[in-house]
Amino acid sequence: MSSKRPAPEPPEPLSPLVDAHTHMDACGATDAESVTALVDRAAAVGVGRVVTVADDLAAARFAVQAAHWDERVYAAVALHPTRANALDEATRTEIEKLAGDPRVVAVGETGLDYYWPGKLDGCADIEDQVEGFRWHIELAKRLGKPLMIHNREADHDVLAVLLDEGAPDTVIFHCFSSDANMAVACVAEGYVLSFSGTVSFKNAHELREAAKMVPDQQILVETDAPFLTPHPFRGAPNESYCLPYTVRALAELRGQDPVELAKITTANAARVYGWL
Ligand SMILES: [Zn+2]
Ligand SMILES: [Zn+2]
Repeated sequence: MSSKRPAPEPPEPLSPLVDAHTHMDACGATDAESVTALVDRAAAVGVGRVVTVADDLAAARFAVQAAHWDERVYAAVALHPTRANALDEATRTEIEKLAGDPRVVAVGETGLDYYWPGKLDGCADIEDQVEGFRWHIELAKRLGKPLMIHNREADHDVLAVLLDEGAPDTVIFHCFSSDANMAVACVAEGYVLSFSGTVSFKNAHELREAAKMVPDQQILVETDAPFLTPHPFRGAPNESYCLPYTVRALAELRGQDPVELAKITTANAARVYGWL
């Protein structure tokens, strides 16, 4: 989602916040210095911690390094569902080793993506995705770490595979994008729903209804940066420092005070990622 639009201005600070899901490498961070600069920009507006998430093996190695470079950064590692066809034996061994690192707070992003097969060259087919999803579920349970789900147009099958395999104690649906019925189903299972900038898009009616259904104890906030920049900066590059825009939009939608919602989501992040 590269664009010529300038980076959004920093929002008014809103504290405390945790960016529950971002991709620092895709935001341009390459070394300890650029990682710290990115988190400094986030911290300046109240985003004190970030979880940087891998979608392939190179990104997984980077995420773990970044989490060791800066104590405000934590990692999640997995192969993205669209890359599940690369999950050979050597890759499984390395992902498993990386996932066991104490700075890794979740196995993800994994799940199912029914949008890209047939549209994207080399995209894993659905059979490979289901197999990869099952493997990551089993890994999360074995390590006792949360499972971070990517679900695109696969509501029914994501829930079915989780049920069949047996879900880990903590399941996070990152960038929740489904409707109110799916939100209710996830809440009933005890899953945690993380909302990104898409919830600020005025035309996202079903998603905005879904966001009202989630109890305080089961909600997180994220940027999924560099993607999904919140309103009114849609199309501009996203980064962790943009999170307060999304939290204010979500708070308005849910009829909550933004500071209260910030505290609630930060307490939830601390609980699910094991920072208590
Ligand atoms: Zn995703
Ligand atoms: Zn992501």
